[in-house]
Amino acid sequence: MATSTYHVLIVGGGFAGLWAARALATADVRITLVDRQNHHLFQPPLYQLATAGLSAPDIAAPLRHILRRQRNVERTGF
Ligand SMILES: Cc1cc2nc3c(=O)[nH]c(=O)nc-3n(C[C@H](O)[C@H](O)[C@H](O)COP(=O)(O)OP(=O)(O)OC[C@H]3O[C@@H](n4cnc5c(N)ncnc54)[C@H](O)[C@@H]3O)c2cc1C
Repeated sequence: MATSTYHVLIVGGGFAGLWAARALATADVRITLVDRQNHHLFQPPLYQLATAGLSAPDIAAPLRHILRRQRNVERTGF
C-alpha cells in the first residue's frame, strides 16, 4: 500500500471506476475502490448471456482478481 497522504475514493468498479483506478496505478496515491458487487461486469456482450451464447464468467470477473497486482488499491464493499 502506498504511503501517500492523498487518498482517492472511487465509487463503482464499472468501466469508469476501474479505468480510473488503472490510470492511477503508478501515481503516488492511496486508492479505495468501493463497489456493491464483487465483480466487474463487461456489459456489451450481455445480450449473448441472455441468448446463452456466453456464460456469466465470460463477461464478469472478480475486481479482486483484476486489481490483484495493483499495490496502491484497497478494495472494499466486496
Ligand atoms: C447491454 C449493454 C450493451 C452495451 N454496449 C456498449 C457498447 O457496445 N459500447 C459502449 O461504448 N457502451 C456500451 N454499453 C454502455 C456501457 O456498458 C456503459 O456506458 C458503461 O458500462 C458505463 O460505465 P460506468 O462506469 O459509468 O458504469 P458501470 O459500468 O455500470 O459501473 C457502475 C458500477 O458501480 C457500481 N455501483 C452502482 N451503484 C452503487 C452503489 N450505490 N454503491 C456501490 N457501487 C455501486 C455497480 O455495481 C457497477 O460496478 C452497453 C451497456 C449495456 C447495458
